[in-house]
Amino acid sequence: MTRIAPTPSGYLHLGNAANFAANALLAARTDGRLLLRIDDLDRARVRPAYLQDVFDVLDWLGIEPTEGPRDVEDFTAHWSQEHRMPLYRAALETLRTRTAPNGPQLFACPCSRKELADGVHFYDCPTAGIALAAPQVAWRIDTRGLPLHAQMPDFAVRKKDGRPSYQLACTVDDYHYRITTCARGEDLRASTAAQAVVSDLLGYPKLEERMDVIHHPLLLHDGGKLSKSQGAGGVRELGVSRKEVFAIAKAWLHLPR
Ligand SMILES: [Zn+2]
Repeated sequence: MTRIAPTPSGYLHLGNAANFAANALLAARTDGRLLLRIDDLDRARVRPAYLQDVFDVLDWLGIEPTEGPRDVEDFTAHWSQEHRMPLYRAALETLRTRTAPNGPQLFACPCSRKELADGVHFYDCPTAGIALAAPQVAWRIDTRGLPLHAQMPDFAVRKKDGRPSYQLACTVDDYHYRITTCARGEDLRASTAAQAVVSDLLGYPKLEERMDVIHHPLLLHDGGKLSKSQGAGGVRELGVSRKEVFAIAKAWLHLPR
C-alpha cells in the first residue's frame, strides 16, 4: 500500500499535485491500494478550506484513494491524527522506557529555538541528564555520530507541549497502516533517515526493508522551492492539464509517458 500524505497548511501547488499523481501511479504498479492520510498534527496551520482543497485536487486529478477519508466530514470524524493520539503516546512511552544500549539515546531538552543554535544546546542537554518528566521539555534523539546529524541534529520525537513530532507520528502511521512504498520530495530525505532511526528505536522491522521510498525532485519556480499558498487559487488555476501533471510524475518515476 502506498500513501498520499499532505499537510493541510495551505492551498496545494503543482508539486503537491504531481506528488499525488506519483503515488497513484505507484499504487497502480503495486497492489493497487492507496491511502489518503492527511497529516493534521500541526493544528495551528490547518484550515477547513485547505482540507477541502486536498479532496478537490484529488477529484480534479481523477485519483480515488482506496483507503482513508471520503470527505472533510469523514476525515474529521474518523481519520484525523487526533484519533491516533493513543498510538503516538504509546510509541513515546516505548521510547522512554526502552533502552537501546548501543543505539542513539533519547534526552530531554528545554532549549528554545534561539537557544538551540546549529544543534548546540544552551543547557548541554544530551549529557545534562534532564528528566524526561520535567515540564516544558522536548524529547530529542541524540544524533551525534549519525549521517543525518548535519541536516537534522537531535531531531525531536515529542514537542515541548507533550504532543508527538512529525517524525514520530509519520513513523507510527506508516507502520500502523502497513505502508510498503511511497514517493516523497527529495527535501524529505533527511526526514526519511530520521524516521528510520525512530523505527529502529520502536523495535519495528527495518524501514528500508519494509518500505520502498522514492525521493523525487522538487519543482522549482524562479529557482526557488514552490510553497503552498495562503490565498485562493491553487493548482487548478495554474493552467496545466491533468495529463501534464501525470507527465511530471511519470518522469519522476522514470515511467514511459
Ligand atoms: Zn537543548
